[in-house]
Amino acid sequence: MKLDDFPDHIKSYLIPEPSGQLIYRCLGCQSEFSIRKLLYTCPECGQVLLIQDTRFDRLKKINGQLWHQIFDYRRMLRLPALKGIYRYHEFIGPVIPLQAIVYLGEGHTPAVEANTRLQEKAGIRFYYKNDGQNPSASFKDRGMASALSYINFLITSGQLKHVLAVCASTGDTSAAAALYAAYLQPHINSAVLLPHKKVTPQQLSQPLGSGAKVYEIPGVFDDCMKVVEALSENYEVALLNSKNAWRILGQESYSYEIAQEFEYDMADKVVVAPIGNAGNITAIMSGFIKFLQAGIISDLPKIIGVQSHHADPVYQYYSEPDPAKRRFKPQTIKPSVAQAAMIGNPVSMPRVIKLVDVYNDLAGRNRVFFVQVTEQAIMDWQLTANQNGHVACTHGGECLAGLTVAIDRKLVDNTEIAVVDSTAHALKFAGFQDLYFEDKMPQDYGVTPDKNLVNRPVYIHPKNLKHVPEPGRPLKGGELDEFIKTVSEAVASNLDLEAKIK
Ligand SMILES: *Cc1c(COP(=O)(O)O)cnc(C)c1O
Ligand SMILES: [Zn+2]
Repeated sequence: MKLDDFPDHIKSYLIPEPSGQLIYRCLGCQSEFSIRKLLYTCPECGQVLLIQDTRFDRLKKINGQLWHQIFDYRRMLRLPALKGIYRYHEFIGPVIPLQAIVYLGEGHTPAVEANTRLQEKAGIRFYYKNDGQNPSASFKDRGMASALSYINFLITSGQLKHVLAVCASTGDTSAAAALYAAYLQPHINSAVLLPHKKVTPQQLSQPLGSGAKVYEIPGVFDDCMKVVEALSENYEVALLNSKNAWRILGQESYSYEIAQEFEYDMADKVVVAPIGNAGNITAIMSGFIKFLQAGIISDLPKIIGVQSHHADPVYQYYSEPDPAKRRFKPQTIKPSVAQAAMIGNPVSMPRVIKLVDVYNDLAGRNRVFFVQVTEQAIMDWQLTANQNGHVACTHGGECLAGLTVAIDRKLVDNTEIAVVDSTAHALKFAGFQDLYFEDKMPQDYGVTPDKNLVNRPVYIHPKNLKHVPEPGRPLKGGELDEFIKTVSEAVASNLDLEAKIK
């Protein structure tokens, strides 16, 4: 729809001009820093930063109902800059002019309601939000669109020249970083550091395919992260890990979309997300907080953060009921099928600790909870979900497993409606499905295949068949007839089909 065709009262709000004033705020010493320089940690005390809009109050002057209309009408615009996460421009990157925004199709992923059978198994009404349907097949594109749009703004406005973007990754961050950097050639190049043999072949193929420099490093993600931190401290590079607060801003779009999708009624909603480096859960909390403060939603949804028992430092921290006694301990992790969340020392932990308190205070009660699930439950729930029409990755399985644990622990009850995050596409982690189906899961994972979930291909090659077709050598005549008859009978017999009465 063209701007002229929209109702008059909404026109002036639809295409946002740059506004607001963003600053980096240190979570340790509270110092403020200008966003003109790319900063990742506080130059004074070394803590992580969050980006704050010091003119946020201007957004409260627009009432909630008008905001709903602005977002709904924006949906009908054909402006690429506003088609993705920047539909919520005022909340994500208000200082960025629309011309600098990079849109590769990210955001607005579907929330698909589970079928009755799966809802009965889980014991609650729920939706999967399929973030695997982002361009590089994970939610990381949300944060990358934000970080790269800002860098693009600095470049196009002459404040920054050429950029080498670097990141450490459990796979998906590097896929997203390499994709967006490739689009912004020649001004931006990217280099990614991956833990050797700790990302799936599909994930490794992504940054290679996008033309990034790919480095494989011994150890786990936490080790890669240390190397990348040293690089960003000592060299002129742009860090694209979620330590970069611009990533968090973009990932807040996940919450905004849930709010819009459910008509801004969050009172009975439960948002379930996996935790690795804890950037995503930080963004989810921050997003809902901002929408509440601007009067766009009137309740904060419940949030359930899920971790595997093989990598659960955040869960362990919150398992101490007395806040005064909580101490964060980095963890030595074990292998997990939720491989993108296999992190023992989450960079965003200080952000989580801060925002959980703010969130619960604003809600007037505890609204954020953490649960732990087994590797077995992750695999079993992932396969169960997919056998009921979803395309959930292992982390999607982890979330669904976490939802059932939350119900068992009475943190959630069946009058609520859950939105479960499938953070990546199932295909990225298909290797774990193969291992499960072939009963070859390495012992470290502690997963035993459930026969009812295993699915294997059936090879049909009847012994009495003399001739079979091969590529470039098709069968003809009687040989072909015999092949079709024998093979179709074998398939029918395997499927127990009844013959048609002719
Ligand atoms: C990065 C990632 C996670 C973990 O998110 P954090 O922000 O690191 O907590 C979970 N699932 C997938 C598929 C990921 O790529
Ligand atoms: Zn500081």
